[in-house]
Amino acid sequence: MTAKPAAVCAACNANLPEGRSAIYDSLFEVYACGSSCWSEWYAENEAGYKRRWTEAVDL
Ligand SMILES: [Zn+2]
Repeated sequence: MTAKPAAVCAACNANLPEGRSAIYDSLFEVYACGSSCWSEWYAENEAGYKRRWTEAVDL
């Protein structure tokens, strides 16, 4: 029986099988192989991240 992937890396689409360590982004609910893949994903999604989680305010 082959291990079914528990998650898929958001940056490189690698299957992440159960039991291995990975990075989980709890805001966007995506997985990455490691911090380098997460950084790659973040670089592509930074605008969306900012739109969702930051805004300009008057103090
Ligand atoms: Zn990856």
